[in-house]
Amino acid sequence: RRAAFAAMRDLPSVTKDGTRIELMVNAGLRDDASALDLVGADGIGLFRTEFQFLVSATLPQRERQQRLYKEVLDAAGDHPVIFRTVDIGGDKALPYMRQDEDAIEDNPAMGWRALRLALDRDGLMKAQARALLEAAAGKTLYVMFPLISEPWEFDDAKALIERQREWLAGQRKKLPNAIRYGAMLEVPALAEVLDILLPKLDFLSVGTNDLTQFLFAADRAHPKLAERYDWLSIAILRFLSRIQKACVQYEVPVGICGEMGGRTLEAMALIGLGIRRLSITPASVGPVKAMIRTLELEPLQKEMQRLLTDGTANARQALENWANERQI
Ligand code: PEP
Ligand code: MG
Repeated sequence: RRAAFAAMRDLPSVTKDGTRIELMVNAGLRDDASALDLVGADGIGLFRTEFQFLVSATLPQRERQQRLYKEVLDAAGDHPVIFRTVDIGGDKALPYMRQDEDAIEDNPAMGWRALRLALDRDGLMKAQARALLEAAAGKTLYVMFPLISEPWEFDDAKALIERQREWLAGQRKKLPNAIRYGAMLEVPALAEVLDILLPKLDFLSVGTNDLTQFLFAADRAHPKLAERYDWLSIAILRFLSRIQKACVQYEVPVGICGEMGGRTLEAMALIGLGIRRLSITPASVGPVKAMIRTLELEPLQKEMQRLLTDGTANARQALENWANERQI
């Protein structure tokens, strides 16, 4: 099997009927970038910049951040790298960061984390913005913001980066040729304001890890709950279908970057919903690409539609049967 997936590396990620599915990888450390070549992915769809902060004994200064981003961009070559601004706070607390008295949290996943913290303590975000802008000089910079709950948070985050760009331009620094701004959809409330959010975006990335825990009000790290709610439940599939349709309407490219997309049956369901970009762990690229190359889209889309409309069927079982019948 290993050899079969190695051979898969150079084959295009297209369905049997010729539709291209973009396969990108989730990464967070320098070495992950070299995985691109090994697995034959189309780019890095989620670069978790907080990893560098989490593995450091002291706060990584701008120069160190910039060095890492540049190395990752160099390793990725012509492939795009989507940098996510730091998702720290909550359960990813930094030992070297001053703790506020009122920052002790009962529910850290729903707490003062990610973009919420970054907009309040904007020194961190400013340094990161400059590091990203300088690292991507002469290239396209893709940047996205985690845990957005309301559209104004995207506006503020984008404005912060734009201000740093102007500042660096004033210093006659070499800058990116273009910047593409994206939002992560992880908070269900955001799905109710897509008509306001989507026109602002260059791309949307759905983080199904956090999204699922918030949709089901079930801690993603709780061992008693981990298997309880299925990624192939009708609630999630309908929710994602609605987001996908809105993105088509507003012509905003949409991808999935949660772990869900790395499991072959789940990936198949997502493709059946119309998703054309998945960002997954490097080890999943081979198996998912192999699945994609055996897929016929039209019958799959029909089956997904049937499941969404019916609502009572066990979607996992039905999709497993559907795939087995077709030897997928
Ligand atoms: C997610 O929430 O789905 C996601 C991709 O981000 P993280 O797993 O880093 O929270
Ligand atoms: Mg998340």
